[in-house]
Amino acid sequence: KSPNSRVEWGRINVFVRGRPLSKTELTAGAFDSLEIADKNTTFLHEFCASDDYLRMKRLKTRQYQFDHVFNMFDTQRCVYDTTTAPLVESVLNGQNASCFCYGATGTGKTHTMLGSVDDPGIMVLAFQNLFKSIEEDPDTSVTLTYVEIYNEALKDLLNPNGGDLCLRELPGKGVTMNGVKEVSASSAEEVVNLLHKGNKHRKTESTRCNRTSSRSHALLQIKVVRKDENRTLTGKLSLVDLAGSERTIANEKKSSSRSVEGANINKSLLSLSSCIRALVEGKKHIPFRNSKLTQMLKDSLGGMCQTAMIATVTPSSFSLGETANTLHWAERAKMI
Ligand code: ADP
Ligand code: MG
Repeated sequence: KSPNSRVEWGRINVFVRGRPLSKTELTAGAFDSLEIADKNTTFLHEFCASDDYLRMKRLKTRQYQFDHVFNMFDTQRCVYDTTTAPLVESVLNGQNASCFCYGATGTGKTHTMLGSVDDPGIMVLAFQNLFKSIEEDPDTSVTLTYVEIYNEALKDLLNPNGGDLCLRELPGKGVTMNGVKEVSASSAEEVVNLLHKGNKHRKTESTRCNRTSSRSHALLQIKVVRKDENRTLTGKLSLVDLAGSERTIANEKKSSSRSVEGANINKSLLSLSSCIRALVEGKKHIPFRNSKLTQMLKDSLGGMCQTAMIATVTPSSFSLGETANTLHWAERAKMI
């Protein structure tokens, strides 16, 4: 139906979204180093440093392949239709699925996942899509939880004064969050406010390398329970706005608690990375237990679950190293 539903679905599909150059980047003299060759291929160009744009020579070009590469003008709707609409279908059929945004701070993870009230992202569009599909079916219920993982502690973004949550693994029920607020939802409009309010409670802190840097992971889980005549179908969609992937410790002068924090954030991201690597390599043992994030995604990653990963990048020539890291990581994940 949608122009991009041509993407063939494997177990994990990897997408790239480059945002436009920001005002700050343009003012500082950055130029666009990302070239989209076709819908699957992107080039990252490295130029020789020079004041003269016209005489700059390409030093090096790296090429990356993905399931789909978005250009900077692609709409939120287009990104949703291509990456997440197919996941919502499977969730309605009783399966689990997940979608992540991965990339450095300031590259568009939150824009892509949550968006703004005027230009809603995947989280909101998924609800619109869900409620449209079930059309007030009294036999289908939709509930959601929205939590933050910060420094390996779990906070409820829908109940910000409630203290830390803990994870419990119950036989047959999987991993559950003790005391989490599970909200039942009946319209997308209602959910938008809830999510934006929740997002305001996320931890953001200024660091030396970025003015503000989101060091927390935000995880929205949507559970859909459908009663048919003789069976109950339960599906779960996990939508994750990951913490910034930049190497905070390496870029900062080491300083006490901030470094510990960086290490913990790396723990969740590293752990996600090792799980994906283990899945790529077809390992039997997937180290889900190594971090909060992966524990919570255990039933939504691998196995029969569909996964979409959206790597977000800036085209800025000043961020080549970071962009190359992101694209490299994302390309590796494609091999599952
Ligand atoms: P992150 O969550 O990765 O730190 P944000 O989503 O907050 O980054 O994006 C940083 C800035 O760039 C925001 O002002 C956002 O509105 C803008 N932005 C991000 N992606 C896009 C895009 N695809 N098109 C236009 N603006 C974007
Ligand atoms: Mg963000």
